[in-house]
Amino acid sequence: MNETIFLLLLFGLPAAIGFKISRSRGKNPLLWGAISGVFPFFLLVLYFHRPEHEISGYFRKCAQCNKTFPWKDSVCKYCGTPVMGNLSKAEQGD
Ligand SMILES: [Zn+2]
Repeated sequence: MNETIFLLLLFGLPAAIGFKISRSRGKNPLLWGAISGVFPFFLLVLYFHRPEHEISGYFRKCAQCNKTFPWKDSVCKYCGTPVMGNLSKAEQGD
């Protein structure tokens, strides 16, 4: 078996996943990609981490209870407050 491919899969795959998840969590993708590549365990840490602030396109912050929930949800899953309109407006950018 080609060792280079093996190493790429072993470290590259978790690194790529870590890179992707950390972007959606508002963290440094390069740093977390590197950490996840060496310690794939940190993928779990990343995955279950909820961001403290709103991240456009990934997480919203509830105006009512201040918790973050997935961007695609139209209702806060913690207190049931609907997301305030302006959805189409926000998507169109400036
Ligand atoms: Zn809420």
